Amino acid sequence: MNVERHKTDILILGTGGAGLFAALHAHKANPDLDITIVSKGLLGKCGCTRMVQGGYNVALNPGDSVERHFMDTIEGGKWLPHQALAWTLVSTAIERIHELENEIGCFFDRNPDGTLHGKAFAGQTFDRTVHKGDLTGIEIINRLMEQVWARPAIRHLEEHRAVALIPATDGALAGALLIDVRNGEFKFVAAQAVLLATGGGPTMYRYHTPSGDKSMDGLAMALRFGLPLRDMEMVQFHPTGLLAGPDTRMTGTVLEEGLRGSGGHLLNGAMHRFMSDYDPKLERATRDVVSRAIYAEMRAGRTTKNGGVYIKMSHLGPERVAKEFKGMVDRCRDCGFDLAGGLVEVVPTAHYFMGGVVCEVDTATERPGLFVAGEDASGMHGANRLGGNGVANSTVFGGIAGDVMPHWIAREKPGHRDPDANILDAEMARALHPFGQKYGDLNALREKLLNAMWDDVGVVRDRAGLERGLAAIDAIATELLATGVADAGRRFNLTWHDWLNLRSLTEISRVIALAALKRENSRGAHFRSDFPEPGDLSASWFTMAQQSQHGIEIGERPVEFTHVKPGETLIRDQIAAE
Ligand SMILES: Cc1cc2nc3c(=O)[nH]c(=O)nc-3n(C[C@H](O)[C@H](O)[C@H](O)COP(=O)(O)OP(=O)(O)OC[C@H]3O[C@@H](n4cnc5c(N)ncnc54)[C@H](O)[C@@H]3O)c2cc1C
Repeated sequence: MNVERHKTDILILGTGGAGLFAALHAHKANPDLDITIVSKGLLGKCGCTRMVQGGYNVALNPGDSVERHFMDTIEGGKWLPHQALAWTLVSTAIERIHELENEIGCFFDRNPDGTLHGKAFAGQTFDRTVHKGDLTGIEIINRLMEQVWARPAIRHLEEHRAVALIPATDGALAGALLIDVRNGEFKFVAAQAVLLATGGGPTMYRYHTPSGDKSMDGLAMALRFGLPLRDMEMVQFHPTGLLAGPDTRMTGTVLEEGLRGSGGHLLNGAMHRFMSDYDPKLERATRDVVSRAIYAEMRAGRTTKNGGVYIKMSHLGPERVAKEFKGMVDRCRDCGFDLAGGLVEVVPTAHYFMGGVVCEVDTATERPGLFVAGEDASGMHGANRLGGNGVANSTVFGGIAGDVMPHWIAREKPGHRDPDANILDAEMARALHPFGQKYGDLNALREKLLNAMWDDVGVVRDRAGLERGLAAIDAIATELLATGVADAGRRFNLTWHDWLNLRSLTEISRVIALAALKRENSRGAHFRSDFPEPGDLSASWFTMAQQSQHGIEIGERPVEFTHVKPGETLIRDQIAAE
C-alpha cells in the first residue's frame, strides 16, 4: 500500500499545551534535533488548551503553599492520585507559570499591588487560580503558537491525523502512521522518540465540552500498542454545561467554575437552591458532588424547561458579573440567556478524562522511546481533577517531556528503525475499512453512543446499567464495522474522519464501562448507586486496563502513599496557625 515516508528525531502527536510546551523545551534542550509536531486541526486553533476558561492553579501567594495545593489535589482525587506525579504537578506549576509570563509572553490578570490575581475555584482551600479574565486558554495557546512559529526548525504537520503507533520487527517503537487529512494519503514518520499528547477528551457523552477534534485517538492507539491505561472509569462531569436546547452545538459547552466559586447559586425548576440538600459546601463543593446533585434533581423531575437546572449570578450585581465574567456573559447572550441579570439553564457535561496512559514522573511510558503528557497521561488527578489543574498538568508535563526526550535520545541512541511492514499494512487496511462498506447513517450511530454513555455509563452508575451500556457499545461497534463511507474519495473526507473518531470513541467507551464495573465502590467522579461507599481509603487501589489476546483485561493495583497517608496532612502547621 502507498505510504510516504518521513524521518524526524522527536515526533509530537498533538499541539495543545502539552505538545507545544514539549516542542519548545525539546528545541531548547537540543536545537540540532529535528522536531515535528502533528495536529489533527490547525496549529493554535484545535484542542482544549485553547478553550481553557477559568485558569491555572499555582501556589504563588505567601499564604498558600505547594503542600496545600498538593493536599487539595490528593483529597480532591479521593486518595487515588499517584502522589509523586501530583507533587511534580503542583511544585513545577510555579516555575511553569513564571515561564509562561516571562519567556512565553502571556499576560495574566493582576492585583492592584502587581502580583498575579488568584481566583476562587471550587474544591480548593485557597484562591490560587491564575487567569486572563475568563478566557485564559486563548492567551496561553496564542503565545505558545507564536513561540513555535518563531522557531522554523520545529516542523508542523497540520491537519494530519495519527492513526497508529508502529513498532519495528523487533517490537521497539519505530514511529507513527498518519493520514494527511487534506489529500487522504498515508504518511509514516520514523522517530527516535514519540510524545503522545492528543489530549484525551470524553466526547462520547450526550453533553460534552471538549473540542470536536478530540476523540480519544491517543488512548485507542496506546491500547492497541499494548500500553496499560489507568483510572479509566474516571470521567469528570462539569456541573454547569450550557443547556441551550437540542439543536445547537452550544449545548454542553461549559460555563466556568469561577461562577460557582465567586458565589453563584444553583436553583432547580421550582426555584429552590438545592445544594444545601446535598453538601455543606453548597455550590463550592467539588465538581463530582455538584454534578451528582444536579443529576439527582433531573432524575426527580425538578427541572427547567429544557431538562436541567438554573445558575443565578444576579445577586452578585449584574455589573460585577458582566465585568468579571465577560466571556461567559457574551457566550450566554449569544444563546439568548442573560447570565449577569437573569437565569441560565445548565446541565452536567462530560469535561475531562482523568484516565490515561500509565507514566513515570519523567513522562516515560513502559515502552522505551514513547512518552506521554497532558490529558492522555494518567495518575496526577486520581478520581477527580481540580478545576485549574488541567492546563497546569499539560504545561508542566509537556515541558518535562521536552526536557527529557533529547537526553533520552543522547543516552540511548535508538536511531531510526524501519517499521514492521506487516503491521504498517494492517494498520492502513484498518483505517481504510469503511471504504469497503455500504454507506450508512454515521450520525445516528454516534447519537446512539452518546445516549448509551450518558444514560448508563455516566454521572451515576450501577451494575445493571453498566451491563446494558456495554451491550449497547458492542452493538454499536458491530454496526460501525458494517457502516461505510461508500466509494467517496479520501481527499478531505470528513465522513471518513467521523468514522475513525467514532471507532476510537467506541473502543475507549468500552474500557470506561469495564473499568466502572470493576470498581465496586464510589470515589470522586465514579459513583455506583449499588456501591455508594468509598471503601477503605488506606487500602485504596486503582484500575489498570490492558489489551491482551483475550480482550481487555481490567486489573487493580494498590495506591502507594509515598508522600502522605489517609488521615494525615502535610499542612498541619498551617492549619494550626489559622
Ligand atoms: C471548555 C473547557 C474549559 C476548560 N477550562 C479549564 C480551566 O479553566 N482550567 C484548567 O486547568 N483546565 C481547563 N480545561 C481542561 C484543559 O483544557 C485540558 O486539560 C488541557 O488543555 C489539555 O491539554 P492537552 O495538551 O493534553 O490537550 P489539548 O489542548 O486538547 O490538545 C490536544 C491536541 O491533540 C490533537 N489531536 C487529537 N487527536 C489527534 C490525532 N489522532 N492525531 C493528531 N493530533 C491529534 C488535537 O488536534 C490537539 O492539537 C478546560 C477544558 C475545556 C474543554
